[in-house]
Amino acid sequence: MPVCRGMLATIACRIVRRSYDWHELHRLSRPLSAALHHDSVARPRISCLLLRNGAGKLALLLKFINLTRRTEIGANSYYLGSGGKGIVLDCGMHPKEEGEAALPNLPALAGRPVDAIIVTHAHLDHIGSLPVLMRQQPQARIFMTEPAAQIGDALLHNSVNVMTRTREEVGVAIYPLYTHRETERATDLWHHCPLRQPFSLAGERAPAQPNDEINFEFWSAGHVLGAAGILIRAEGRTVFYTGDVNFDDQTLTKGATFPETEIDVLIMETTRGDSPLPSGFNWAAEENRFAAALNRAFARGGCVLIPVFALGKTQEVLAMFYKFKRAKLLEDVPIYIGGLSSKMTEIYDRRANNTARVIPRLELFPEVTPFVLNGKTIHETPARSGRIYALSSGMMTPKTLSNIFARRVIDRPEHSIFFVGYADPESPAGVLRRAQPNDLVSLDEDERAQPLRCQVEQFQFSAHASRESILDYIRKTAPRKLVLVHGDLPAVEWMRAAASAALPQCEVIVPPPGVEIEL
Ligand SMILES: [Zn+2]
Ligand SMILES: [Zn+2]
Repeated sequence: MPVCRGMLATIACRIVRRSYDWHELHRLSRPLSAALHHDSVARPRISCLLLRNGAGKLALLLKFINLTRRTEIGANSYYLGSGGKGIVLDCGMHPKEEGEAALPNLPALAGRPVDAIIVTHAHLDHIGSLPVLMRQQPQARIFMTEPAAQIGDALLHNSVNVMTRTREEVGVAIYPLYTHRETERATDLWHHCPLRQPFSLAGERAPAQPNDEINFEFWSAGHVLGAAGILIRAEGRTVFYTGDVNFDDQTLTKGATFPETEIDVLIMETTRGDSPLPSGFNWAAEENRFAAALNRAFARGGCVLIPVFALGKTQEVLAMFYKFKRAKLLEDVPIYIGGLSSKMTEIYDRRANNTARVIPRLELFPEVTPFVLNGKTIHETPARSGRIYALSSGMMTPKTLSNIFARRVIDRPEHSIFFVGYADPESPAGVLRRAQPNDLVSLDEDERAQPLRCQVEQFQFSAHASRESILDYIRKTAPRKLVLVHGDLPAVEWMRAAASAALPQCEVIVPPPGVEIEL
């Protein structure tokens, strides 16, 4: 997820928070009702329950705390404790909250061991609060894949800039939550781990065969460059945390390679739980539909704005333009991207030769030659016909390039806005997607509302697994317990019902925020 000024400064286009009350969570998590508290901060509970693991040994139960503050996609972070050791999985920043509210529920870690922090990938909602947690837990070792570390470095420095501007312009006194210097020191401490190699929490290579020590191993998650699921072996049992995953190939990024056997506990993302795959959906056919729509848009004499995430979607869209030009589906039209997107694209290009890709060794900058816009030049850039503006943020958050540019095209019938991925329904992109022609649309409450006159089209190029492929994976692995995370309430609710029906023996858990549960 790109970081941009408006993502942290939700001063305009106020977002109405969906608040899920305790009763809703209670209803969702009936098996856990005994563990629920009314407050959002966990009170440590002493638990020494034992069960027999696969080897017939007695094993301590694993303890799990959902450190997000609500059941939603926000500041993703989870705690896993076992036998006096503790791991934090991901430490994201909420893209729509401000100040401390954007952090995970870190006070819930008080008094618990934190030996390691393991990060699945470098989207803001998974890594954005890492320097804060590192300050609070200086003894913890930090692990991620090398490409995730390179992207995370760029993303966190960008996040410092965003927070600093927000402090100056909106007056959030606590910002920045960390500095460039602290980020530099933090990134120096990160351990880079290759895929499919078990490591101990001390960062030593560990044997693949389980022993009494906790170890972990990264498995390729598709999704974006460097994204990995984490297989944890603890107390003779295995826990697999998917992070964000895509099981299918995208245009550039290959689908996930995940373990398919011997998973006791599966912690699964559910982003697309409330959106069925259109019948007969096929990525290549969707690419062709996209190319045809671009040509129709140019024939109308307009330009096309494509709101994209800086990490992932930008590079997928650039790879599509490369394919379209090679196949003569599209003329060689000028393409514009944003500053953070260009940094992320450079990292993709640097790793072109040592990352398995659907288009092997493709380097996007030399092949697609996009122009780069930034927060200053965007204001002097007119919407010119026959051009593509693939700008972040994907949610069109106020003050970001895509939001500023959209206000230049929204009331002009010759121009087009194409959506190519997920947008929160309450974000400006979500509002615009639901709007009807000639509706008055406010993309930024600091600016006047405008009538919707441009063409709006939607395409399905999600970087997240479809709910159907998630269910397939759950069936294949048949975990004893399934923990549903990283989804808004309707998404986890659908997945809970579908997974319970598909695997009646499996205990399906929607972990209530801030409450310790036993796995
Ligand atoms: Zn992600
Ligand atoms: Zn995510």
